[in-house]
Amino acid sequence: MSKKVLVLAETREGALRNVSFEAIAAAKQVSGGGEVVAVLLGDAVSDFGQELVNYGADRVVTVEHPHLKHYTSDGYGQAFMAVVEQESPEALVFGHTAVGKDLSPKIASKLQTGLISDVTAIEGEGDDAVFVRPIYSGKAFEKVKNKEGIVFITVRPNNIAPLAKEERSGEVSSLSVDITNLRTIIKNVVRKSAEGVDLSEAKVIVAGGRGVKSADGFAPLQELANLLGGAVGASRGACDADYVDYSLQIGQTGKVVTPDLYIAAGISGAIQHLAGMSNSKVIVAINKDPEANIFKVADYGIVGDLFEVIPMLTEEFKKVM
Ligand code: FAD
Repeated sequence: MSKKVLVLAETREGALRNVSFEAIAAAKQVSGGGEVVAVLLGDAVSDFGQELVNYGADRVVTVEHPHLKHYTSDGYGQAFMAVVEQESPEALVFGHTAVGKDLSPKIASKLQTGLISDVTAIEGEGDDAVFVRPIYSGKAFEKVKNKEGIVFITVRPNNIAPLAKEERSGEVSSLSVDITNLRTIIKNVVRKSAEGVDLSEAKVIVAGGRGVKSADGFAPLQELANLLGGAVGASRGACDADYVDYSLQIGQTGKVVTPDLYIAAGISGAIQHLAGMSNSKVIVAINKDPEANIFKVADYGIVGDLFEVIPMLTEEFKKVM
């Protein structure tokens, strides 16, 4: 049976997040030929509607309200539930982002339905869809099938390819929702980390560990990341040593990432770090210690001093870019 699927589209710093397009592609598969409706929440977001259509949404519903300018669980919960009441969907797809991870359990509990989180692949479509998700910190994958009720999944960024962007037609409508009784009102957001490519969606990550030895030591990593259009990440060792902010931490208690290329420099490869990056598509490890655990998950290992190897890589990449 084909399904009507609602997708939570997310914006960040004045642009749609890539994971929104990936969620639309996932929703197409889940819908089995049904309708995919993207939901955009914010204070001035309707201009993004057509882009969601161009990425495959059949329709877009926007809810605009000053209280939706910044994410709050209460505000987004009320707005999203109003769209659910209007649309009566048979399936929901969110990104497995900070917003998606916070909002999805709340919506699932309101709808009295289950939640299949952190999906990295979908096999089959419609009622036959089987959802693949990592378990045991990425050491194994389980396959889950929805047996009854609303299908509700969150998709891990960078795993499901978006549909090609092309001129498509679809309705963009707005829904007026009275957002009331907020327990939190966010007046201003002060960013600790540097602007740039979002770590959780970056296609290339150059990550440094305690082996980088100082905050200044991250400069060559940043240069390489900039050259490759990627982001800098870090181990907890580097964050604990105050070389970089904790918002860059990758691992079990940091961000989980799956870039196309992960370069780990001066990182030993503790199990808690591997939990956040071992599903990256290609892993390059640079470490002075040939016995370092990181080499066990690396596709390419370079035994050497990162302060020699990283500048050499940067120079070589410059020649071909
Ligand atoms: P180290 O283990 O000190 O490794 C530094 C590496 O740099 C060494 O392998 C060394 O050979 C190499 N090196 C030194 N100099 C150079 C050089 N010039 N060139 C090349 N290589 C060099 N860690 C995380 O990363 N993320 C998490 O989310 C996380 N969560 C945790 C949760 C819990 C509950 C616990 C207990 C721990 C957690 N940890 C986490 C910490 C984790 O166990 C490790 O302590 C941490 O990952 C080590 O960081 P590191 O690899 O940078 O440092």
